[in-house]
Amino acid sequence: MYYKIVILICKFVYKFMKLLGKNGGTLPGNIALRLNKNILKHFNITGNVIAVTGTNGKTSTTNLISNILSNSGSVVSNREGNNINTGITSLLVKNCDLSGNIKCDYLVLECDEHYIPVVFKDLKLDSFVVLNFFRDQLDRTGEVETLIQKIDKFLEGYTGNLILNSDDPNVSRLGFNKSKCKVYYYGVEKFSGATSSMRDRGEGKYCPFCSARLEYDYYQYSHVGKFHCPNCDFGKNNIDSIVSGIDLKKGKFEYNNKTFETRYNTIYNMYNVSAAFMLSSIYDISMDYLYESVKGFELNNGRLESVVINDCPTVLNLVKNPTGANVTINYMNQDDEHKEMMFVLNDKIADGKDVSWIWDINFSILNNVDRIITSGTRAYDMAVRIKNSGYDVKKIEVYQSIDEAVNNLYKNNGKKYVIFNYTATTDTRRAVLNYKGDKNGL
Ligand SMILES: [Zn+2]
Repeated sequence: MYYKIVILICKFVYKFMKLLGKNGGTLPGNIALRLNKNILKHFNITGNVIAVTGTNGKTSTTNLISNILSNSGSVVSNREGNNINTGITSLLVKNCDLSGNIKCDYLVLECDEHYIPVVFKDLKLDSFVVLNFFRDQLDRTGEVETLIQKIDKFLEGYTGNLILNSDDPNVSRLGFNKSKCKVYYYGVEKFSGATSSMRDRGEGKYCPFCSARLEYDYYQYSHVGKFHCPNCDFGKNNIDSIVSGIDLKKGKFEYNNKTFETRYNTIYNMYNVSAAFMLSSIYDISMDYLYESVKGFELNNGRLESVVINDCPTVLNLVKNPTGANVTINYMNQDDEHKEMMFVLNDKIADGKDVSWIWDINFSILNNVDRIITSGTRAYDMAVRIKNSGYDVKKIEVYQSIDEAVNNLYKNNGKKYVIFNYTATTDTRRAVLNYKGDKNGL
């Protein structure tokens, strides 16, 4: 169907959904792609198009980049994370005029790693930020190697800016021997929690070009760290942007000789910051904007969100894969206080039906965790996994109902860490935050 008619129809759908009090989600995009599968070709974006992809940190990084850039121009972005072709098309339909023109200085798109070739085959792309590649839910995403090759193939025809994490071999390799595009590498200086051996199970331990075993000076988390190939030039990058002097407890770091304050509190957030700063330097964004954006950035929506419930300091965090879970456990371990943990595991379609990834979570290193509650549709699988790590089974409690789980979590005083996977986010946050409402009479 002629693209202008498709845009008109989808704008009506969007308006109608809005009248019903819904935000439209991916429906207008879904309809647009059904009516014209090449619809993305017809959008004409006046400003710079920036894409952010990777296994972990896409939403946080996209939001930080949008916040920074909005100081220097108008930004359109899928901040809520509808990050596949239908969600991105919905965003464009919503923001374009009837001829498909989108007037903005920056279009900042979070894009699912598997959809990069699909979306950007038809949409111009100026800057492409790649964060990290980890093993995700296998039944949804396939092997990491297949994914990397897919992105590499897409890059064969790419001529824009390519912004890569120098410390993740899975990402860094994308820049090796690329002559058509402009490659930039960002990194993060060794922090106090770095280790000399890999703490968690990870990928990327062999050189993809000569198959030699990669040598690491240190690991920051999982397989991310300072590595090089002893046999070829892989890993010997010129770093264009580096975040240094990191003190996560004090919430401080340095960039370009300036001290920054931040609420970011994990090493993996520091990599997201470094990616956002690298991108900002390409667009000549002032250091003052970087400073203010990072200082004012609030973590919420269950991403290391801190709340006080029933007088108990509580940290809520969403994890979707073993790397995210291991980073959260390492974060908990920096806290020497006695604490209790709750892990809510669902196996709905968006989570992936296969929950075998929980066996790659390193529960054996838990520090001062006095009790663990499990909940969700796979509460028992999670309890079995934790028991197998050597944790005292008498301290594990299983409640399939999330409300019952939360009620039991707060029967003891003290610090709580509440971890949940994707589809468990809304129910878990609601149950925890409502508990606060009930008990405090709010
Ligand atoms: Zn090599």
